[in-house]
Amino acid sequence: MLVIFEGKSSKVSFDEFCDMAMYFCGLLLEPDDIDDLELTISFETDLAVRNWNGYCETGDSDKQFLIWIRRSKSAAIQAETLAHEMVHVKQYIRGEMAEDGQHTSPVLRSWGGCGSYAENTVEIEAFGRTHGLINRYNLHKQEKIDV
Ligand SMILES: [Zn+2]
Repeated sequence: MLVIFEGKSSKVSFDEFCDMAMYFCGLLLEPDDIDDLELTISFETDLAVRNWNGYCETGDSDKQFLIWIRRSKSAAIQAETLAHEMVHVKQYIRGEMAEDGQHTSPVLRSWGGCGSYAENTVEIEAFGRTHGLINRYNLHKQEKIDV
């Protein structure tokens, strides 16, 4: 797994982001998927669009992903954004994300209708898992300190 950083974050160190990204991968993906994964985490301000905290897109290969995180946000929001976008990476890799950004899984699709962002099933899963991922990461860090 390769993690590349672009731009600057004054809120969280790249080491910490790298740790977090790898930890979330371990929770969300199979080991085979993680091996050749390439993540670019970008804090470039010129990508600021529509007041989003972040977004995720695929790169040249289906194992390359760009996660953009809004630079002006707090450390907590940036960490939550990374967790949220990593759920989208999982959705792409597992084939759960359709071309139109809707969930392809019938089970997940039944959670909500098509249409608005709030009802988009890939977003329901991403928002729903964000705090769980962050809590697990914080516990994992705490365990490392306690040892
Ligand atoms: Zn999302």
